[in-house]
Amino acid sequence: MTDTTDRTPVVLRGALAEVLRRPGWHRRAACRGVGPAVFFPEAGNRRLAQAAAGVLCAQCPVRAPCANAGMAEVEGIWGGAEAEERLRWRADPAVLERASLA
Ligand code: SF4
Repeated sequence: MTDTTDRTPVVLRGALAEVLRRPGWHRRAACRGVGPAVFFPEAGNRRLAQAAAGVLCAQCPVRAPCANAGMAEVEGIWGGAEAEERLRWRADPAVLERASLA
């Protein structure tokens, strides 16, 4: 009888699943390889993380699809915008369009 038990460490299974869930545009993201601490900062690191995200997102070739994907998210920085800014985008799509991210 063949042993079909998955011996992949749980932490690697989670990481692999996360990579497979990423949309295709993420392959061209300026933040590729950057850890989540920049885009999902803890309270004490928020300002530094926002500054780093701002630099990365401003020159990212996939900012528009990232911003659109982030519209459904309530946490993190997506397309260079935090949750509060994305709420304004949702309330007034013209704001998003003026930011050239629609
Ligand atoms: S816009 Fe910012 S968060 Fe989105 S993929 Fe580009 S660098 Fe990453």
